[in-house]
This record gives sequence, structure tokens and C-alpha cells, in this order.
Amino acid sequence: MKNTTLNSLNNDPEILQLIEKESIRQRDGLEMIASENYTSKAVMEAQGSILTNKYAEGYHGKRYYGGCEFIDGIETLAIERAKKLFNVGFANVQPHAGSQANMAVYLASMKAGETILGMDLSNGGHLTHGSPVNFSGLLFKAASYKLDANTGLINYDTIRATAKEVKPKLIIAGYSAYPRHLDFAQFQDIAKSAGAELLVDMAHFAGLVASGHHQSPVPYADYITTTTHKTLRGPRGGMILTNTEEKAKLVNSRIFPGIQGGPLEHVIAGKAVAFGEALRPEFKTYIDQVLKNAKVLAAELTAEGFSLVTGGTDNHLLLLDLSQSKAVTELTGKVAEIALDEAGITVNKNTVPNEKRSPFVTSGIRIGTPALTTRGMKEAEMKQIAKWISQVLKNTDQVDIKHQVKQQVKELCQSFPIYV
Ligand SMILES: *Cc1c(COP(=O)(O)O)cnc(C)c1O
Repeated sequence: MKNTTLNSLNNDPEILQLIEKESIRQRDGLEMIASENYTSKAVMEAQGSILTNKYAEGYHGKRYYGGCEFIDGIETLAIERAKKLFNVGFANVQPHAGSQANMAVYLASMKAGETILGMDLSNGGHLTHGSPVNFSGLLFKAASYKLDANTGLINYDTIRATAKEVKPKLIIAGYSAYPRHLDFAQFQDIAKSAGAELLVDMAHFAGLVASGHHQSPVPYADYITTTTHKTLRGPRGGMILTNTEEKAKLVNSRIFPGIQGGPLEHVIAGKAVAFGEALRPEFKTYIDQVLKNAKVLAAELTAEGFSLVTGGTDNHLLLLDLSQSKAVTELTGKVAEIALDEAGITVNKNTVPNEKRSPFVTSGIRIGTPALTTRGMKEAEMKQIAKWISQVLKNTDQVDIKHQVKQQVKELCQSFPIYV
């Protein structure tokens, strides 16, 4: 696939060739990493624009550089569209990524050394929710809650008891690998009775909130953070939403000058374009199909003898627990990920509740439908893909089978072009 927008890169063949190889990889394979998606060309054009040249430290009306009159217009549009999309009072669109959004909220809510309570990383939480190797665990005292060992579901009584014990300043609701909905009223009640603030990190399910397929955290949370590149289908970046002017001011000052310098205005323009796209009725249809596809995939893989954490999915992702699956024996997440990759299907290994293996090996894989749904794939394709996944996982040492599936995957992908 020749990327016709990259003419100027003819002067840098090393980078050009690698971009072209990557675009072929994206075109010919099944992208099933639950946190990935394909943005529109419009988002990419905004992100690849001359806006990258401009310094704009500060906010509209309070910039530290001249020449920001058009930048102000772009950032204001992004903010207004975000507010409309999520029906919320205030938005900060400057976080470079989801991690920076979380860092700014922690510094708005607490002092270093105080306590956060988030979902355990091996149970589906995110690095920034208190992992000892991340700033969240290095700068704050991190406590965590685990999923119910039998059901794989969040147990709100456990969170309540832990909150009582560790007295956190901030409770975090949100996940990177959990296939069900969250109950924000419960989280709010737990936070209130523990004297804590509530952050909802909707990085994974922001698209489902935008389309009305998931309860909105806006009436319940003190702070909401998200990425813009997962189910929301925008450029790689982050965002913070708040309901009161007081919190908005605090968050703004923690982003700049707190933890960032100049905002990435080219990315902010991409965010504005993506929010505009998500405000259109087609986006609701898209998320509808993302969820239908995940349900079909879950049902088909279950029928093939695979065990799913919580027994299924209500959102855009599913977690296969290979250690509980009749279909395979002793198969690790690591081996499964590599075998599927060799067959043109990209997923990631993932820990499961009660994980016995290291995070580099794991007993599970996480599978998502956002990217394939953007390509236009529907239930029929999901049924076929479930068969291929099953075939590969049941025969991870059979090179012929992997090559055969890879060829069939490529043929399927040709009928669903990404960038026409
Ligand atoms: C992806 C994710 C993030 C961080 O996003 P980056 O943009 O990679 O920094 C934060 N929180 C959750 C729950 C996520 O899934």
C-alpha cells in the first residue's frame, strides 16, 4: 500500500519504508487489541498539520506566547465539542495521553504520599492506578481492590471494606481489562462514606459513554479522565472532565504549569475532529456494532470450549482465561499471543483473576472489537474469526495451520479496506 500523503518522506527512505511496512501490517492483519482503533483520515490530517509548529503554553486568554488567535479557536472548539459529547461542565483537552490526565488529577486531589485506591493491575486495572513501577505507586501510597475470585466481577463490598481500612484520598473506578459495566452510584457512595474523592478513568469505555451504551460517570465523579484513541476513535491523547469551576481550575493548573509545557495543538485539532465525528448519529451505530461483535465473538469462542472471565461481555472486550478452558491444556497467554500473531491476528496476553503466572507469561488473552468494527466487519466475520482463533489456539505448534489462517485473514482483510 503506497501511502500517497507521504511524498515528502521520499527524502528519508528509512522512515518511509518502515511506515509503509507498518501500513501493510495494519491493512493485512486483524487488529484485535482492545485499546486500539483506526482514526479517520480527517483526524490524521489535523494531527499531521502545521499546527505542530506552534507553542501555546497556557489557556485561551492566558497564553504565554503570541500568535495564538487561531490556536485559541481550535482548542475552544475541542473543549466545546467534548462538553457537548459528554454533557459536562468543563473539559481540559491538553493532556498528552491518558497517563498525564491521571497524573494531573492525582496532584489536584492529593499531596504526594497520600493514598489512592484503584483496581489491582493483574485484575484488570491500569499501571497508573497504583503500580509500584509507575509514578502512581512511586509518588503515592497505593492500595488496591481485587475482583471476586469466583465470579471475576467487581465486589463493591470488598472495595467498601478496603476503603474503610486504608482511608484513601482518591478512589479510582476504571479498567483496562474488565468485560462488564461499572456501577458509578456504588463507587460514589463508597467514596463519600470514606471521605474520598472519586475519579472515573473511562479510557477504555469513553466511546460507549459518548454513544449512550454505558452509564455516564458525569453525575457521580469528582473527576473523569479518558484517552481519546481507544473506543473514542480519535488521535492518541488524553482529556479531563469536571463538573465544577473550582475543580476545573485546579485541574488546569496541574496540567499547566503542573506537569506539562506546551500543549500538542495538532493533536488537540485531531481531538476536535474526532469529537465532531462522535457527535454524529453514525457513531452510535458504530458502537452498537462494536458491542454486537463482542457478544458474537464471546458466544462463538465459548462454544469452541474457551472460558471467558465473567462468562461473557457487556462491552467492547473479552478476556479468555486459558487456564480454565477445556479447549486447551497448559497454554499460556504468551504462547497464545505469539501463535495468533503468526496467523495475522493481533491480541495481547493478559493476566486473569487468580493469576498464577508472571505478567510476562500470563494465563489469558484480551480480545477487542473496536478496530475491526471500524473496518466494517460484522457478526458473520466474527463467527469466522472465532473459528480461526480456536483453530490456532488448539494447534499452536502447527506451522501449516498458522500460515493457512494468515492467508485467509489477508483475503478477508482485502474486502474491508481501512483507508480507501
Ligand atoms: C490506556 C489507559 C490509560 C493510559 O493511556 P496512555 O494514553 O497509554 O497513557 C489510562 N487508564 C486506563 C484505564 C487505560 O486503559
